[in-house]
Amino acid sequence: MAIEITNVGEAPPVGEVPEKMHASLIRESRFGQPRDAFAIEQIDVPEVGPRQVLVYVMAAGTNYNNVWAALGTPVNVIDARRRQGAEEDFHIGGSDASGIVWAVGEEVTNVKVGDEVVLSCGMWDEDAADIAAGRDPMMSNTNKVWGYEENWGSFAQYCLVDRYQCYPKPPHLSWEAAAAYMLVGATAWRMLRGWPPNVVNEGDPVLVWGGAGGLGCMAIQIVREFGGIPIAVVSDESKYEFCHQLGAKGVINRRDFDHWGRLPDIDNPEAFAEWANGARQFGRAFWDALGERRNPTLVFDHPGEATIPTSIFLVDNGGMVVICAGTSGYNADVDLRYLWMRQKRFQGSHFANVEECAEFNDYVVQGRIDPALSRVFAFEDVGESHQLMYENEHPPGNMAILVGSPREGLTEFPP
Ligand code: NAP
Repeated sequence: MAIEITNVGEAPPVGEVPEKMHASLIRESRFGQPRDAFAIEQIDVPEVGPRQVLVYVMAAGTNYNNVWAALGTPVNVIDARRRQGAEEDFHIGGSDASGIVWAVGEEVTNVKVGDEVVLSCGMWDEDAADIAAGRDPMMSNTNKVWGYEENWGSFAQYCLVDRYQCYPKPPHLSWEAAAAYMLVGATAWRMLRGWPPNVVNEGDPVLVWGGAGGLGCMAIQIVREFGGIPIAVVSDESKYEFCHQLGAKGVINRRDFDHWGRLPDIDNPEAFAEWANGARQFGRAFWDALGERRNPTLVFDHPGEATIPTSIFLVDNGGMVVICAGTSGYNADVDLRYLWMRQKRFQGSHFANVEECAEFNDYVVQGRIDPALSRVFAFEDVGESHQLMYENEHPPGNMAILVGSPREGLTEFPP
């Protein structure tokens, strides 16, 4: 007889799929502060399609995308899916996970029941015409982020992914550490390695905004591994040591400057000169941190509106500002004079394709890049971990949530 449901942390025999599961889910009626938006409910375990994999979640990672999902803005992900034909009136977030393969569809050959895996969040239609025509799947019109745009994420006892989303779990990592790195790490990998010729090389100075954040702590390590010179930006001196330990040569405190945000009107010379003065002072702080008068060949941006004018100003001639988010706002200004006269590149980037995820995961498997796990939460505290992130009060590094994994993994902060 089929098992109806198990308690969180109590696994049925490997491969036996219960009818229902516990999931920490968001409903439209709860949209708002992340702390209140998530609640644990019992729902049916999803059906497994021919090319899909059901994973018993041991641990899940906290990422900024489910802060947005909880707020219901800028996209109501539940409504967006419903308009595309989905039936569910709830959202199970969670775009990072480590776990055990529990069931596979009949066309799945790359993993089998019992395999220990980490999951990537990039999804697309494997039969899409644009992919068949040679387009990078991350640029396919069918591309979506699992556990955000797509449902059945890792804040549940079981999650559902496509077969190509599974990668080997690094054997030396705990479940919670293994759940913490793929989304931010593979994103940083593509940003720094995926846009030739502007890739990080030996001796290249690289400016990393939010150096102690999820993306930033991965970026510092990737730059270091390729012989580049990471210079990190943070908002508090308490984060300096963390960035140095990961390999940052220098760290800048952004609170020492106040020229952030949109550019002043170009017809207001006084205001513009004041802005340019702030940007130049920041540039000098970059040289001081680097120990020489060279500008960054790459700027790793994600705050967006607050930082883009400075990033474009500072990046070296022929260098690239690469951006994957607009946490501080989307309405950023670019002074085109710097862009064309100094032949700079401004490149959008979004997560990573299968090759990039595999290359990055290999570095973690080899122990060359560390997940920088900071704090581990209980399953009841999915909302709390996202609230901390929303308020920028989370500890440096990446946070994880225990799902099937034993509670001994729980940590207090500071540890
Ligand atoms: P995170 O852990 O919160 O780190 C972001 C860091 O940015 C913070 O630690 C903060 O550091 C810094 N920051 C915040 N506001 C800032 C501002 N106004 N100016 C300069 N720096 C600021 O978040 P994350 O995981 O790194 O993600 C960052 C953003 O990238 C989020 O919006 C997320 O959704 C997005 N993202 C996109 C992709 C993609 O594939 N497109 C992938 C991953 C993440 P300090 O306060 O110390 O400066």
